[in-house]
Amino acid sequence: MKATDLLLESDPFDFSSPSKKLFLESMKENALHHYKNHEFTRKLWDKLKFHPENLKTEDDLSQIPGTMVHLYKEHEFCSVKKEDLALVLTSSGTGGQKSQQFLDKKSLENVKRLALTIHKSLGMASDKEYNYLCFTYDPKVANDLGTAFTDELLTNFTGKKEVYYAIQWNGSAFELNEKGVVETLKRFEKSGTPTRILGFPALLHEVIEKHHLQMNLGADSWLQTGGGWKGKADKEIPKKEFRKMIRERLGIPEENQRDLFGMVEHGIPYVDCKKGNLHIPNYARVYVRSPQDLSLLPKGEKGLLHFLCTYNTSYPAPSLLTTDYGRLGSCDCGIGGDTLILEGRAGVSKHKGCALKALDLIKA
Ligand SMILES: [Zn+2]
Repeated sequence: MKATDLLLESDPFDFSSPSKKLFLESMKENALHHYKNHEFTRKLWDKLKFHPENLKTEDDLSQIPGTMVHLYKEHEFCSVKKEDLALVLTSSGTGGQKSQQFLDKKSLENVKRLALTIHKSLGMASDKEYNYLCFTYDPKVANDLGTAFTDELLTNFTGKKEVYYAIQWNGSAFELNEKGVVETLKRFEKSGTPTRILGFPALLHEVIEKHHLQMNLGADSWLQTGGGWKGKADKEIPKKEFRKMIRERLGIPEENQRDLFGMVEHGIPYVDCKKGNLHIPNYARVYVRSPQDLSLLPKGEKGLLHFLCTYNTSYPAPSLLTTDYGRLGSCDCGIGGDTLILEGRAGVSKHKGCALKALDLIKA
């Protein structure tokens, strides 16, 4: 996959026309691969009279038909032989609906690589050592779960000293070790090594409030959140207020607090810049569509999110139509490109994901 290799070598936030052309070429290459190797995708595109060879300009990209996200939950869609898969990622949904992502060796390398490049470009990678507190499952016991995979990946962007996984197996179920979290944070505070906290904002918020945490983890400490406030939406704090609270209670500067939006089926991380806006890299395209007729909406208007990506040859989701609402915005931090503003989810109860499952673990 020549164009995709070149794309992933390029700066994720370079939006010059040669870079954008590289994405177009990579998309065409990837779309052709899935068209040839995945029957459902081929039949859908044939029916809608779309062929990857039609991709000639940037504007053509929005014409790639989106496959609805729920189809990936109901079917095992794969564009390579099962024996060629290196990893199957599962997002633990409730009610039997699981999100899966199939990764062959090359696609797995690609997703790891692009995640590193994106985090590096946003100033989040470092050679220095950090202590990690992860509000997730230990990847040793939950290796195929999306959040555990993400957290293990994220701890590899810096040197690491100690890694503490807060959601632990008690012999019969996973549970959040709250006492362990509080003790670990206190120990990290005194250690002289800066801390990085990874996890769901609602879990962290609840622990801070419940245990009256008041500490200073130091100006080089970081908070990387993901998964949103799903299931705890009634307790959701506006982002700006949350950032201020974290600075006051844990001593983590606001510019070191970064949120991440990702979907197991899509795999591209959308990460906050220091101003707290999720930037869209040139490794993806995001379109906003009308929920009535799926027509393309102009920048700034709220609609259903439609994602394109090119790094994966094993999972036929190059064009994914989601049930998430959002809109495109801008940021003046200098990174450029559009930003992604999330506006919630359509039909929340049907799409309980990993985040919600983890939130269920908070003991009342
Ligand atoms: Zn920005």
